[in-house]
Amino acid sequence: LELSLQHASKLEAVGRLTGGIAHDFNNMLSIVIGNLDLVKSSLSGNEKALRRIESAIEGAHRCAELTSRLLAFSRRSPLQPRALDFTSFIPGLIKLLERTLGERIAISADLEDGLPEVCVDHAQFEAALINLAVNARDAMPDGGTLGIRIKRHEAVAQEDSEQVHSVEIAVTDSGTGMSPAILARVFEPFFTTKEAGKGTGLGLSMVYGFVQQSGGTIAVDSNPDQGTRFVITLPVLAKPGFSSEEIDPGKAPGPQ
Ligand code: ADP
Repeated sequence: LELSLQHASKLEAVGRLTGGIAHDFNNMLSIVIGNLDLVKSSLSGNEKALRRIESAIEGAHRCAELTSRLLAFSRRSPLQPRALDFTSFIPGLIKLLERTLGERIAISADLEDGLPEVCVDHAQFEAALINLAVNARDAMPDGGTLGIRIKRHEAVAQEDSEQVHSVEIAVTDSGTGMSPAILARVFEPFFTTKEAGKGTGLGLSMVYGFVQQSGGTIAVDSNPDQGTRFVITLPVLAKPGFSSEEIDPGKAPGPQ
């Protein structure tokens, strides 16, 4: 608990700081980009200068992309949780991942039958899974398999001895894995092992924040050269008028 509190306040401080810087930086960048565009349009005929201006514009756009990610990170827009049905959500996500990850990554998805709904912000949940998937791809430069397994998870009983049901989403890869030293820091904001320009170190930090805010948990297990497994649990949607018995997998009302 203490660790996650420390993490939360660190996240908040970093968020406030980066938000302020990113905002000012963005304003200045738009001046730079605007002027570069003007110069470019006056350069027709001068191929060499045009190429230089174009690469400057490209660099400025990459900066703008980074600042908008920093802004999104710091803004912490309030979540809009809605009921999410995995059976209709996952096929669309897989299509999106196939396009994002490229041909070298095979996707293997496995959904348990009759999964209960969870209550999450759909866009943020999708962003979290894309984050995990893109990290998995980066860890498999020669290609490999991304696994997505979703099943019910019965947590240990709480004080009132009632079982708390949640859904477990495991995202696995057959990639490089991580050393214990790296593994211990993955959720830290700005921690990255990727080369400059490729990683911001904000991806997992955002995933962590999203899962916490959604009342879930996230854990990671990794072995060098064997791969990595992230497991997210999300509480199932408590439907008004539904007792926990009715969503018990063994007792789910069936069509008989
Ligand atoms: P970024 O991807 O920008 O580096 P993240 O917060 O998403 O930021 O990840 C932090 C670091 O955690 C990565 O730089 C990488 O070292 C490590 N990491 C995350 N996911 C994986 C994975 N699936 N396999 C191996 N290393 C990973």
